Amino acid sequence: MPGAARRRIRLAMVGGGEGSFVGAAHRVAARLDDCFELVAGAFSSDPARALASGIAIGLPGDRCYGGYGGYEQMVASEARRDDGAEVVAILTPNHLHASVATACLKHGLDVICEKPLAVSLAEADALVQLSAAQQRLFIVTHTYAGYPAVRHARELVAGGALGELRVVQVEYAQDWLATDLERTGHKQAGWRTDPAQAGPAGALGDIGTHAFHLLGYVGGAAVEQVCAEVHTFVPGRPLDDHVQALLRLQGGARGMLWASQVASGEHNALRLRLYGSRASIRFDQEEPDTLWFTPLGEPAQRLRRGALDSPGATAATRLPPGHPEGWYEALAQLYRDFAELWHARAEARVPPPWAQATPQLADGRQGLAFIDAVLRSHSAGQRWVSLQ
Ligand code: NAD
Repeated sequence: MPGAARRRIRLAMVGGGEGSFVGAAHRVAARLDDCFELVAGAFSSDPARALASGIAIGLPGDRCYGGYGGYEQMVASEARRDDGAEVVAILTPNHLHASVATACLKHGLDVICEKPLAVSLAEADALVQLSAAQQRLFIVTHTYAGYPAVRHARELVAGGALGELRVVQVEYAQDWLATDLERTGHKQAGWRTDPAQAGPAGALGDIGTHAFHLLGYVGGAAVEQVCAEVHTFVPGRPLDDHVQALLRLQGGARGMLWASQVASGEHNALRLRLYGSRASIRFDQEEPDTLWFTPLGEPAQRLRRGALDSPGATAATRLPPGHPEGWYEALAQLYRDFAELWHARAEARVPPPWAQATPQLADGRQGLAFIDAVLRSHSAGQRWVSLQ
C-alpha cells in the first residue's frame, strides 16, 4: 500500500544570492530528494542583487524581497500567505543568523540555519527559549553529520564497539586564509575576518565549530572543559585564524581539537580519530565514503559507504557502492532529515531515529558554548575552564 501523498515543503532563503558560496549548495541539497519547493527569498542586502538572484532561478519578482531588512518583510508577508513559505533557510554571514531566526520563529516559521548558530552564547540561549515557546523545528546545518560513514560511526560508538572512550582527536585544517586574502576584496574572506560580521571567533567559529560538532556527534561524550589558545598568524587580521584546545570529556576521555585556516597545503581536512579500550575509528571528510575501524590487536578494516548496514547509514545512502557520494549529498541529508521531522509532526507520529539524528538547535547552542569557553580560556592565559 502506498503511503499518504506528500507535498513539497515550501522553502524560503535569506542570503544565498548570486556570488554566495553556500546558497547554490543549499538549493541543490533541498532539491535532491524532491522534498522542498523554493518559493521566496531575501537573497542579498543589495535590493537589485536580491531581485536579480531570485529572477535568475525562476522566482516571481513579488516573492523576492530586497535590501538589508528585506528578510523581515519577507517573513511577515510569507507568514500571511496561504501559499507562503513554511521554513526559512538562513544563509547569511553569522551576525544576522539570530535576528533572522528570531523573526522566523515569531512568525511561526520553521528554521534551517547555517553554523555558527549565532555570534554569542546569549543570542543562542535566547533562540533556544524562543524556539521552545513557539514549538518550531530548528536544525543547524553541520553538513558533515550527513555523511553515511559519519552516521555509521556514530552508531558504532553508541553501540559500544569502541569500548570505553579514552582518547579523541579532531582537526579541521584549511589554507585558504594563509595570506591576507580579505584585503583583495574576496567576499567570503572579507566578512569571515571582520568581527562585526563573523562574531568574536574567526577560524574558531567558522570551522572549529564543525570539528567540535563532529566530535560530539560521533563520540557521544560531551566536552566538559577546555584549555585553549587562539592565535592570529596573518598580520593585521582582527580575528583568530588558528585555534588549539585540550579537552576533558564527560566519562573521563581526554583529547585535542585544532582548527586552522593557515595550514598550507590543506584544503578541507576535517579528520576525526576516536580511541576506545577495545577499538578505534578514523574518518577523513576528504574521503567521505570510507570509515576505518580497527579492533585492538587486529588489522584495520576499511568500511565503505554502500556496504554500511546501520540504519543511519542506510537512510543516508542514495547510490550503490562504487558510485561516489559527497558533500552535496551530506547537506541534502540534513534537508531530508528535516523533511521527515516536518512530515512526522504533520502526521502526529514519532519521526524515525535517523531523522532525529540531524543536528538541531541544541547542537548549535553547544557550538557557541564551545566558542565562549575557548575565548574565556585564552583570555585567562590558557587556563582550564568549563563549558556553560
Ligand atoms: P557568502 O558571503 O558567500 O554569502 C552570504 C550571502 O548573504 C550573500 O548572498 C549576501 O548577499 C547575503 N546577505 C548578507 N546580508 C544580507 C541581508 N541583510 N539580507 C539578505 N542577505 C544578506 O557567505 P557563505 O560562505 O555562503 O556563508 C554563509 C553562511 O554559511 C555562513 O554563516 C557560513 O558560516 C555558512 N557556511 C556553512 C558551510 C557548511 O559547511 N555548512 C559552508 C560554507 C558556509
